[in-house]
Amino acid sequence: MAALILDGKTLAKQREEKLKQAVAELVQRNGNRVPILATILVGDDPSSATYVQMKGNACRRVGMDSIKVELPQDTTTEQLLTTIDELNQNPDVHGILLQHPVPEQIDERACFDAIALAKDVDGVTTQGYGRMAMAEPAYGAATPAGIMQLLEHYNIELEGKHAVVVGRSPILGKPMAAMLLNANCTVTICHSRTANLVEHIKQADILVGAVGRPELIKADWIKDGAVVIDAGYHPGGIGDIEKSTPQNKLAERVAALTPVPGGVGPMTINALISQTLASAESAMG
Ligand code: NAP
Repeated sequence: MAALILDGKTLAKQREEKLKQAVAELVQRNGNRVPILATILVGDDPSSATYVQMKGNACRRVGMDSIKVELPQDTTTEQLLTTIDELNQNPDVHGILLQHPVPEQIDERACFDAIALAKDVDGVTTQGYGRMAMAEPAYGAATPAGIMQLLEHYNIELEGKHAVVVGRSPILGKPMAAMLLNANCTVTICHSRTANLVEHIKQADILVGAVGRPELIKADWIKDGAVVIDAGYHPGGIGDIEKSTPQNKLAERVAALTPVPGGVGPMTINALISQTLASAESAMG
């Protein structure tokens, strides 16, 4: 049977309609004050510039605003910390997004951690991660938070399932694993030093590919009936996971899978703007 397609693009659009209404109500209650997401882009990476642009556009689609801060490639850690501090102090800013990755001379962790917890709508701070992992209120990292929304929307059963997350980055693999654990999955986290990667993947009821290397995970490693989440960005339908080969049509034998593009990407942006609205609601009342 054909797999259920976890259509993040359509779900994000539906959720934007609700966000638009909630933003309008908040603005009306607060003398036309509009929720604002500040985005910080350091350097001239064209992909990062595109992602920041998409996030700003999403804010405007739902009636929020965004302040775009652009810093040069040779920005220092201290300069970036100063910018973050100014945005932390600015009462008009409800969320701060520091686009990852920053140029290598910058201490990215120090800069992420300088973001005020209340404005950490992209869920990148150590404290935010820790609180989320402890199931305390916190904004989750946007990509895994968006993936959880997608799984929930499609009523994918998680409790008792074996989830295998391939990748352990601070913004994706680690928080993804914590969220799945909190949802009562049994979780295995794989990374570049994992022995017997194939054997782990073969056991996954829920598989999350978060490695950033196209076709690292082969379709024939994935068991029948699995739920497959591909967080890769790679266009043309091929992401971290090789979806189909002539010998092995993955889409015909797994239970569900995310398209690339149109799966995880739109849900990441949606989680970010939802969390920005939540931050504005708690700041404005
Ligand atoms: P990252 O920081 O580069 O982390 C990649 C992870 O993959 C690391 O944990 C690494 O292990 C692991 N890995 C690398 N080679 C491996 C191998 N041969 N076997 C097993 N694990 C291996 O990347 P990221 O920021 O997490 O992003 C991962 C992917 O998600 C990328 O394609 C990125 O573009 C995509 N992404 C998409 C969205 C979206 O909105 N759609 C958002 C964020 C990221 P080590 O820790 O051992 O090095």
